Amino acid sequence: MITDVFCKILKGELKADVVYKDNDFWVVKDINPQAPIHLLIIPVKHFTSLEDFMEGDNNGLLGKGLVVAHKVAHQAGIAEKGYRLIINEGEHGGKMVPHLHIHLLGGKRLGPKLVK
Ligand code: AMP
Repeated sequence: MITDVFCKILKGELKADVVYKDNDFWVVKDINPQAPIHLLIIPVKHFTSLEDFMEGDNNGLLGKGLVVAHKVAHQAGIAEKGYRLIINEGEHGGKMVPHLHIHLLGGKRLGPKLVK
């Protein structure tokens, strides 16, 4: 895993293209987009992983993350045609940045397979 660049973005130490912000989530454009729209929904509170997230009392925060995903999909104009949400977890899941995040991909018809 690489360093937690998302904490750096949230602290203002690293520039990013932020498309949405509230007290609980920021949404940034992925630096290496895999689709015409590729956004990352990032909780402001640091959780390394979904495992880490489950250990605390997080008051429906992940549910709110889905509400934010829905909101930014509308904002990006891709809600009607559809999109895909992905969470990569751990080594086999291909997680690179150790800060829980949801990928939102869309803007074209995505491939039929999630797994290569
Ligand atoms: P994951 O494999 O789920 O950990 O995905 C991490 C994602 O973060 C990848 O799609 C990267 O392209 C993206 N990423 C890495 N560094 C940055 C950055 N500085 N700003 C925006 N996205 C980034």
